[in-house]
Amino acid sequence: MQTNFTAAQLANPEIQVANDILRSCVHCGMCTATCPTFVTLGDELDSPRGRIYLIKDMLENDRPAAEEEVLHIDRCLSCLSCMTTCPSGVDYMHLVDHARVHINETYRRPLTDRLLRDLLARILPYPNRMRAALALANLGKPFAALLGGESMLAKRLRAMLSLAPARLPAAQNLTGTVHRPAGAVKGRVALLAGCAQQAIGPSINTATIALLNRLGVEVVVPAAAGCCGALVHHMGRHEEALAAARRNVAAWAGDDVEAVIVNTSGCGTVLKDYGFLLRNDPMAADAAKVSAKSLDISEYLLKIYEPTRPPEGLVVAYHAACSLQHGQRVTGAPKTLLRKAGFAVVEPKDPHLCCGSAGTYNILQPDIAASLRRRKLDTLKVKNPDIIAAGNIGCLTQLAGDGVPTVHMVELLDWMAGGAEPAGLALLSARHATSFGTP
Ligand code: SF4
Ligand code: SF4
Repeated sequence: MQTNFTAAQLANPEIQVANDILRSCVHCGMCTATCPTFVTLGDELDSPRGRIYLIKDMLENDRPAAEEEVLHIDRCLSCLSCMTTCPSGVDYMHLVDHARVHINETYRRPLTDRLLRDLLARILPYPNRMRAALALANLGKPFAALLGGESMLAKRLRAMLSLAPARLPAAQNLTGTVHRPAGAVKGRVALLAGCAQQAIGPSINTATIALLNRLGVEVVVPAAAGCCGALVHHMGRHEEALAAARRNVAAWAGDDVEAVIVNTSGCGTVLKDYGFLLRNDPMAADAAKVSAKSLDISEYLLKIYEPTRPPEGLVVAYHAACSLQHGQRVTGAPKTLLRKAGFAVVEPKDPHLCCGSAGTYNILQPDIAASLRRRKLDTLKVKNPDIIAAGNIGCLTQLAGDGVPTVHMVELLDWMAGGAEPAGLALLSARHATSFGTP
């Protein structure tokens, strides 16, 4: 694609990167067929190619973002399915990241939109605040029906209330903890404990640590590490995202660990991008080092996992989180591990399509998110699974509540290696009137 940036514009390294990305696109349109928003809405401007044109025009003319660009770029899930499809290797992720920062810096959103985004950015990255917000949301659930109307605000508020789990799990605080295996230490890793995950799904970290310990791996959670920054990064809040990245790089770079383990793939994609995010920062070398040793839990387990229980004969429908399959290109490891654990693994039709979770997307774009959720659940459930498994808390929350238990794959692996039956399987246990987890 031809671009027309001036020499003065190209002196800005961020524009130089955008220019290189834009020039690599040959506008073939192959990405449109695998873009969930194009498939759902059928509008070229809601396709990767359409968005690339919008971004090009906005940046080349060096002007504030306009309503049209904001509408279509906000609708992008950052699922990165387009990057998997693109034959020219267009780095859409960094282009849309740049566009989101530009929008955040140049576009004044309506007041309610600004307030909601501020609220999400101030609550979600902090587990204690998140817990308090979830408790409040549960109190508000009975009044959800009063939030009638079809305004975007009403739909967003209803979406927020519907995502709050009916029962809050016990609080988890892993900050500054070290978890040693009972026997010989064969490895040592740092774990990203996550933010929202500690509030909504603490059992995922518990199972991760238990399983790694059982396999002889020591797990540390450095006190200085916190939220990965993904939530604010995807809202274009660049400085907040950089601050989170710097804090985590400082926490992990000096630690003598072989890997930084991530069990929330949305966060893993951002950790693996710290090297790029901080490329012009004094911490650039350390950031690159942290990115290089960041691994999804399934990547790390692939070589060392051994189940110890007899198989339960359960059918697991594996939902590939976009951040894992497109963002990190980790596709085979989770399925290989689940099969090794003795589960029959099935996959939905169109596994490349997003479930609509995408960080805060299911709150900010409730209609598209609901449509993608329904489509994903229909394609998963047609395979008659006992369990739906994924490697990302956002997807698990998005797909919960439709009759099939949703469980993080690491909880299933831990269970089959001698750990506790995943709490999320209570529904399944009741249905089968049997007790799973008996060795
Ligand atoms: S597939 Fe790649 S090269 Fe083709 S239009 Fe999409 S982004 Fe551009
Ligand atoms: S990131 Fe996903 S939603 Fe956004 S343009 Fe690419 S395929 Fe479409």
